[in-house]
Amino acid sequence: MIFFSDFDGTLTKEGRELTRDFFDILDQIKKEKHELVIVSGRSLSWGHFFLTHFPLSVCIMEGGGVILYVDDNGEIVQEPLISQAEIDRLANFTTKLKNHFPGLPMSADSYGRLTDRAIEFHLMNAEWIKEVEDFMYKENINYSKSNVHINFWAGEISKYLGVVQFMKKFRPEVKEEDCWFFGDAANDQSMFESFYNSVGVSNIHHCLHLLTHKPRIILEGIDNAGPKGVLNFIRKF
Ligand SMILES: [Mg+2]
Repeated sequence: MIFFSDFDGTLTKEGRELTRDFFDILDQIKKEKHELVIVSGRSLSWGHFFLTHFPLSVCIMEGGGVILYVDDNGEIVQEPLISQAEIDRLANFTTKLKNHFPGLPMSADSYGRLTDRAIEFHLMNAEWIKEVEDFMYKENINYSKSNVHINFWAGEISKYLGVVQFMKKFRPEVKEEDCWFFGDAANDQSMFESFYNSVGVSNIHHCLHLLTHKPRIILEGIDNAGPKGVLNFIRKF
């Protein structure tokens, strides 16, 4: 069984705290010989952290923009899922965006990003957010909101496309029905839309009204929030 999971708010408590539950999830996955693949909007450099500090062999970062895996020599390999032309277009756009909106609160981890960039939208008012989103739309730049950032990118990137490409290349023998996905926010929607075994941890109730595509299973109650919900769910397998 492969368990794909968002990180912030799904494997962390309230999007901030790495709790005992996360390590219990890792233990449970190991005990039952399952696999955990983190699918996060966080940067490539966070992916390096995940692969060096936790017993994981692969993760899909930047909202599906890049796969990182540990090769047979124990080295971390990063594989962007968009072309160099799109990576360059994003870099040029980001310069233009920052010139157009002086003081735009770029996320601190934007420096570690390759296939997308991120903005700390909680430091902006609604009007400013709207102006930035309109600017992106005009420049043919895509964006989505996680529970911490507005992420933006050039080309076709989504968590679902990242998972599909990972499955095709690295786990072709595994059937989709033997996989599950856990998420908690709007940037998980591509998985909720297209991945049949999708689960929302109970804290997703805060943003359900914002979702066009909802998870097939929505967990209920405080005991199923974030990593507690993931842990309870995977214990059934
Ligand atoms: Mg999240």
